Amino acid sequence: MAPVVQIKDIHKIYESGEVPVHAVRGVSLDVQRGEFIALMGASGSGKSTLMNLLGCLDRPTRGTLLLDGVDISQLDRNELADLRNQKLGFVFQGFNLLARTTALENVELPMLYGRHRRVSMDVVRQRALHCLEIVGLANRADHFPNQLSGGQQQRVAIARALVNEPQVLLADEPTGNLDSKTSVEVMGVFQRLNDQGITIIMVTHELDIAHYCKRNLILRDGLVVRDEVVQNRSIAEVEMQKLREAEAAAKLIAAKQ
Ligand code: ADP
Ligand code: MG
Repeated sequence: MAPVVQIKDIHKIYESGEVPVHAVRGVSLDVQRGEFIALMGASGSGKSTLMNLLGCLDRPTRGTLLLDGVDISQLDRNELADLRNQKLGFVFQGFNLLARTTALENVELPMLYGRHRRVSMDVVRQRALHCLEIVGLANRADHFPNQLSGGQQQRVAIARALVNEPQVLLADEPTGNLDSKTSVEVMGVFQRLNDQGITIIMVTHELDIAHYCKRNLILRDGLVVRDEVVQNRSIAEVEMQKLREAEAAAKLIAAKQ
């Protein structure tokens, strides 16, 4: 099958400041369906720029990007927005949930525009609830973001990213604001989704988090300098079990003292 994302020699030059910034300097990459990629690299290496290009949130200065076989340079703004809506889901470091809106309504939002405009509200609600179930939060549907923990908010954001049934999930430092245990939980959600066939590309600067992915790419100065398959990758469920055992042991020790 054709790669779900195919980029050939893409560059991004920001021309806004006094000196142009060449943030991505010729990256070529095939992403096959079912891949789970961590994009790593020092601050300023171009990770977010490359993610924005992959997410069709920005266009390359030169080079080509095919999303599910479609050359995005041939699309106008609206067509690009539609394609993005249909094919991609986004998860951000800061969750980006609407504060005065329940978890369920937050998840419904992406369905209220784009190609689902004509879907009935019942269907919208059912689909959003189903996505909350997938991330284990159906029982929090009517909670507001400030009534949820950071990990729960990020799971709501993942449910929101899933609601249009995307082929690719793009996440820029999704565990950046989470403690280590909650990060493992979120990686567990990603691994389950990936096992079900969703392609995931995420930015992280944490090596242990990248180890939950199947493939690691390292960027330096706008170029991919390493591209490797993860050997013996971490499995979130196993790590969670270890954490629970360690916690139980710590409690036993504390009780004996
Ligand atoms: P990373 O996410 O790896 O930290 P970025 O992609 O954010 O890196 O940035 C890569 C380079 O591009 C940096 O030098 C940064 O200052 C520059 N840059 C990022 N966004 C813009 C922008 N909108 N305008 C000008 N320069 C930018
Ligand atoms: Mg960044």
